Amino acid sequence: MTFEGAPQERTGQEWIERYQGALMNTFGTPQRVLVRGEGPYVWDVDGNRYLDLLGGIAVNALGHAHPAVLDAVTTQLSTLGHVSNFFTSTPQIELAEKLLELIGADGRVFFTSSGTEATEAAFKATRRSGRTTIVVAEGSFHGRTMGALALTSKEAYRAPFEPLPGDVRWVPYGDTAALEAAVDDTVAAVLLEPIQGEAGVIVPPDDYLPAARRITTEHGALLWIDEVQTGIGRTGDWFAHQPSGVTPDLVTVAKGLGGGIPIGAFIALGDAGTLLQPGNHGTTFGGNPVATAASRAVLNTIEKDGLLANASVVGDLIRSGLDDHPLVVETTGRGLLIGVVLTHPVSADIQQAALDAGLIINNPTPDRLRLAPPLILTTDQADGAVKTLRTLLDEAEASTAS
Ligand code: PLP
Repeated sequence: MTFEGAPQERTGQEWIERYQGALMNTFGTPQRVLVRGEGPYVWDVDGNRYLDLLGGIAVNALGHAHPAVLDAVTTQLSTLGHVSNFFTSTPQIELAEKLLELIGADGRVFFTSSGTEATEAAFKATRRSGRTTIVVAEGSFHGRTMGALALTSKEAYRAPFEPLPGDVRWVPYGDTAALEAAVDDTVAAVLLEPIQGEAGVIVPPDDYLPAARRITTEHGALLWIDEVQTGIGRTGDWFAHQPSGVTPDLVTVAKGLGGGIPIGAFIALGDAGTLLQPGNHGTTFGGNPVATAASRAVLNTIEKDGLLANASVVGDLIRSGLDDHPLVVETTGRGLLIGVVLTHPVSADIQQAALDAGLIINNPTPDRLRLAPPLILTTDQADGAVKTLRTLLDEAEASTAS
């Protein structure tokens, strides 16, 4: 099947060969060459349609080609596309105010263009506390630039680039006693994901973030929550830490914030808002009018269309639809950040079979699947996806049994 407007003159395989001749091989061979997206669907160059249950890894909060984002971007770009840091623009100010309102505390925002850049900004801010040690959880992912990489646990990512910026203390994720033991009066910050995404959607015990808040406060350390993957409605709350009742000092966001337009933010609450002083940090593209206008449209649409509630309802539907499958140990996550823990390490095979069946999903570890679909996913679309996934799980189970 092809769709109108598909470039027919070259096949996906030919494009992949061109890709391999022109792009750095940092991520392996791309699975498909995508040419179009609409709502929760994308199409490849060969005309195949996929239900995008990964959303560009938790980025496309409103799906693809959402009219609100399109309108915001085109209107802003045709009005004022970019200004230097010597000036500001109204979308930038409005977005900063909106983020603080949603987070529910006073503070200051620094805009970036990616998650790792938000990590770098926050990392620099922690140094302004006069202390240098950062306590970070095993299994964490905070980005790939040198500072963020120092705070990211995966050895395969780190090893080729040692030595990384130092003074990092590692603790097992979700273990309050270990955190208690690791934090003393020399610690600048404790950095935690409210749910570990890249590690396979791992949810800590309910009392973990409150304990982290108590421990950091006792020792005069900052509590830094990385909401790059979990934030902006993905878990059914604006920020995944909010149900814990904790107010962090530092919050980093990106991914869903721009609904596909590159933008991130480092949000510092209370006194932490003044850690970075004039001359301490900067970036050319951070807070760009087009990116901030897009983000404002994303937040408005999530609010107006009740997408937080939708994320909770549809996420629960998917989890409960998969929970009882014999190949599934458990489903994890909240809202539309979903982990599926398998009894066998067959996630790569299932991911490949899903692609062939028209579903985009991800296999962050050999025995876990991850879904992070657009927040606009309907219950009907989710029902259909669950049916297909169950068939794929049946097939994977049958082939492991044989
Ligand atoms: N922090 C978390 C929790 C992430 O999941 C990611 C990306 O996956 C990052 C930081 C880095 O974001 P980016 O890829 O935009 O640099």
